[in-house]
Amino acid sequence: MIRETHDWDCVWIGANLATMRAGERAYGAMRDAALAVKGERIVWIGSALEARSRVASQPVRSFDASGMWITPGLIDCHTHLVYAGNRAGEFEQRLLGVSYEQIARSGGGIQSTVDATRNASHEALLSSALTRARALSAEGVTTIEIKSGYGLDLDTEARMLAVAREIATHLPLSVRTTYLGLHALPREFAHDRRGFVERVSGPWLEAVAAAGLADAVDAFCESIAFSTQESEQYLRAAQALGLPIHLHAGQLSDMGATELAARFEALSADHLEYVDEHGASALAHAGSVAVLLPGAYYTLRQTQPPPVALLRQAGVPMAVATDNNPGTSPCSSILLMLNMACTLFGLTTEEALAGATRVAAQALGMLEDRGTLELGKRADLALWRIAQPAELCYGLGVNPCLGVVHGGVFHGGRVVQP
Ligand SMILES: [Zn+2]
Repeated sequence: MIRETHDWDCVWIGANLATMRAGERAYGAMRDAALAVKGERIVWIGSALEARSRVASQPVRSFDASGMWITPGLIDCHTHLVYAGNRAGEFEQRLLGVSYEQIARSGGGIQSTVDATRNASHEALLSSALTRARALSAEGVTTIEIKSGYGLDLDTEARMLAVAREIATHLPLSVRTTYLGLHALPREFAHDRRGFVERVSGPWLEAVAAAGLADAVDAFCESIAFSTQESEQYLRAAQALGLPIHLHAGQLSDMGATELAARFEALSADHLEYVDEHGASALAHAGSVAVLLPGAYYTLRQTQPPPVALLRQAGVPMAVATDNNPGTSPCSSILLMLNMACTLFGLTTEEALAGATRVAAQALGMLEDRGTLELGKRADLALWRIAQPAELCYGLGVNPCLGVVHGGVFHGGRVVQP
C-alpha cells in the first residue's frame, strides 16, 4: 500500500520494530524502520530512510525514535483487577503451611474478597483498580481483560463490570470485560448450589448481557469451585446469547475442564497446569488459546508447571497474563510475568512476548485489530529503551517502557515530544 505523507498524522522514525507478525523472522523484527499513524490506525511501515525523504518534502509531525524498540501495545488477557481489600493475611497463613484449598474450604480465600467487594462503593472499587491498571499501563499495556466474580450477586457483579469499563475512560487502555459468573459459591447459597448455578446461567447472565456489560464469560471449573456439569450449563446459556467463552481449567486438577473448553470452542482455556495430551489436542482442534499464568503458579508455590512442550507440540498458541487478583496473583507487572513464563515454564523469550501481544489478542478475539504491528491495525504501541526484545523478558523489576501510543495518541513522559 502506498500512502502519501499527507495521509499521515505522525510518524515514528528510526525505531527498531518488533512487529510480532506470525511466521516471520525472530520477533518479526525490522531494524532502523519507521511507522506512520493516521487517526487510530497504522497506515505505513517502512524504512527510516524512506520515511525521512517523505517527511523532508512534506512536513509531517515526526518523532525521532532512533535506538528505541517499538512493539505492539502489550495485552494482559486475564485479570481480576477490580476488587476491594487484599489478602495479605492469607499470604501470611500460606507461609505458615496452610494450603489454598484449606483456606477456601474454611470460608477464606475468594469469599473474603467477596465480602469486601460487596461493601465497597463504585468510587472505592474504581480508585483501587485504577492503581493496578496504571501500573500495567506504565509497562506498555494498552489492552486489559477484566473479569467480575467477586460479587456473586447480580448487583455487585454488574458494579464490577461497570467499574471495569470505566477504567478505559481514565487511562490509555482498552478494556474487555468478562462476566465470571461461576467463580465461587456465595455463603447465602451454601446449601443451594443448584439454585445459584440456575440464577447465574439464567436471569443474571441475561441481565448482564442485556446491559451490554460483558464482552465474554468465564467460569472456575475446578474441584474447589464448579463441576464440569455446572460449568457446562452456564457456558451453554452464554453460547446461546452469543457471548464468547473463557474457562479457568486445569489449575489444581484435571477434571476434564480443558476438554469442556474445547467443546465450546472457547477463546481460551486458562492456567492448564493439569492437562494431558488429549486436552492439548482438543484445544488445538478447537483453535483455543492456552493462557499461562505464572504469577498464580508462583504464589501458590505449585510444583507442576503447565506442559509447555506438549502444548507446543500440539500447536496450541500460548498467551501469558498476570491473573492480577488479590488471592493467588497480586501482580501488576506483565514484564515480571514474561520473565516467569520463561524461567518457570520454559517459554522462549519470543514465545513469551508473543504471549502478551499477538496470542493475547487472539485469546480475546481481537487479533484482527491488534496484537501485531501491521497496516490497518489499531495504532496501539509500546515504546522501549532496550537494545533487543529479549530484554523485556530478562529483567526482574526493570521497566524500560518509555510510553505507549493508544489509538494513535502518544502517552508517556520519557520521550521528547516533537
Ligand atoms: Zn483467573
